Amino acid sequence: AVSAYDPENIFAKILRGEIPCKKVFENEWALAFHDIGSKAPVHVLVIPKKPYVSFVDFSARASEDEITGFTRTVGHVATALGLDEPGYRLISNVGPDSGQEVPHFHVHLLGGRRLGALVS
Ligand code: 5GP
Repeated sequence: AVSAYDPENIFAKILRGEIPCKKVFENEWALAFHDIGSKAPVHVLVIPKKPYVSFVDFSARASEDEITGFTRTVGHVATALGLDEPGYRLISNVGPDSGQEVPHFHVHLLGGRRLGALVS
């Protein structure tokens, strides 16, 4: 079961402009901004504008337009950051076992260096 969306989570506050962020890109589908606790030379978070708790929620409830719009935006941001050729990693944590901290669906875009093993 997926818990209800908490409109007071930190990314909801960022989307409402109540908390600042270092914005990388924004369109109708998504907002991309630098992670505050950067784990790589490039560490950007891409979040949908609409409220989804995690990928479980997003994949089940988002419209095809939203899924396409969001997915293409993630790709566009990676390209714009110059990551396509050296490569990068996409991660989305889902639920307690993953260590998901913020209950608003987000994709981590990590790059700018050779990344280590996926799971630790
Ligand atoms: P999760 O563990 O939920 O997948 O990742 C949450 C991410 O959000 C973490 O990497 C953390 O550094 C980042 N984060 C948490 N609070 C803030 C914030 O207020 N601003 C920004 N830019 N990033 C945040």
